[in-house]
Amino acid sequence: MSYQSNFDNFNEWITGLFPDQKEYLQATRELARDVIDIFNAHEPYKKNDVLRRLSMPERIIHFSVPWLNDQGNVEINQGWRIQHNGMIGPYKGGLRFHPTVNESILKFLAFEQCFKNALTGLPIGGAKGGADFNPKGRSDQEIMRFCQAFMTELQRHIGPYTDVPAGDINVGSREIGYLYGQYRRINNRFGGAITGKDISFGGSHVRTEATGFGLIYMLQAVLKEHHENIADMRIGISGAGNVALHAALKAIEHGACVISLSNSRGCLIVDKGLTTADINWAIDNKAHKDNILTALAERVQGQWHDGKTPWQEKMDIALPCATQNELDGEAAKTLLQNKVKYVLEGANMPCTDKARQEFDRSEIPFVPGKASNAGGVAISGLEMSQNASFRRGSYTSIDETLEDIMHNIHQQCVDEGRENNRINYARGANIAGFRRLADAMVLQGI
Ligand code: NDP
Repeated sequence: MSYQSNFDNFNEWITGLFPDQKEYLQATRELARDVIDIFNAHEPYKKNDVLRRLSMPERIIHFSVPWLNDQGNVEINQGWRIQHNGMIGPYKGGLRFHPTVNESILKFLAFEQCFKNALTGLPIGGAKGGADFNPKGRSDQEIMRFCQAFMTELQRHIGPYTDVPAGDINVGSREIGYLYGQYRRINNRFGGAITGKDISFGGSHVRTEATGFGLIYMLQAVLKEHHENIADMRIGISGAGNVALHAALKAIEHGACVISLSNSRGCLIVDKGLTTADINWAIDNKAHKDNILTALAERVQGQWHDGKTPWQEKMDIALPCATQNELDGEAAKTLLQNKVKYVLEGANMPCTDKARQEFDRSEIPFVPGKASNAGGVAISGLEMSQNASFRRGSYTSIDETLEDIMHNIHQQCVDEGRENNRINYARGANIAGFRRLADAMVLQGI
């Protein structure tokens, strides 16, 4: 019999180890609550102590990133790579550059990534990394020098069969280009050590759109399961980055009314709904505007609310697509009072524990990020196989594969999460991901 045979034992153990890492505790407890019964029901899982082993990163790499700013002065940031679990494939997960980045946040993201990657069905393990570097207000040259300095250290720890980073918050195609350029320069190797690359040097079609599009494919599967349709649904989206804007594009394409976007400064509400042209304009111009949403507000005559989130508005579907813990218990209550019917996480863990409890109590379908935002990493997985075979799939074939993968993840959630009169998507996703990882751990021994 292993150490943790009930949730309280597990909680005491993990809290004792990482008392100050609140995001990491939030993510590990949330998973353990859902899988503890499955764990206890399987002797090999207990014998191999899979739950505790899955809750400890296999490796944490922490390094300094000294670089030169435009004034010729030295600046120093901290960089990390959390290689959480490599049981089912090379470590895989994005890089985040943001001043709030710390070990707890990257550990929770790496932990979530393992289960998400397992749900895709592809042979990819889980990782995350990044730096406490704030790219806002930096020149292009400074961003390039920072990316090069970051990769000068990271490159010794990654490779197509070891660990394959990608983008995340503030790491888009420009940063991936600089990071990959430095990796190639040092290693003299073309190939799949990084995904999210430009199409001109080994990138995959649909990778940029994949997380947002995948979120809407998941939404369509959820709606079908509940005998509803996306057309004319009022959708509130938070964020105005890669995930949010591509989710908005796909939702509008299917006839939904997207009423909001947001960023760290406030939110834009457009009651009549945004159009495809509005979103494409935001995608094309966001790099050149200080605040793309205030500019968009002027363009579409929408309302800009300084410092606010979209969750006060009346909507059928909420898609939080900005960052972790952006939707709290009070916001969840307001959404429910306003009769929200579905919540799907586009970001990683955007709903706080309290918000999730509210949604759980109300029994509306709630799909966690590890299932609903898996489209990005799924297409990254396909980018890896395209690089390995020196082939490129067409836009249409990759988009169809993305849709199939999202529908397959939906089915796994339904199969594992069916309860009396509802589908508990969060529990279903946790159990399905856990089983795949736990089985691999048992087969590979300690
Ligand atoms: P981007 O950097 O492209 O955009 C992030 C957006 O979120 C920006 O609009 C940003 O606003 C906003 N934001 C960041 N912090 C806050 C905050 N504290 N409050 C309100 N808004 C905030 O990132 P992505 O779109 O790529 O990522 C968004 C989320 O999706 C993250 O949780 C990420 O981990 C997750 N994700 C991303 C994937 C991908 O393929 N890109 C894959 C799977 C998950 P501002 O510009 O003002 O900071």
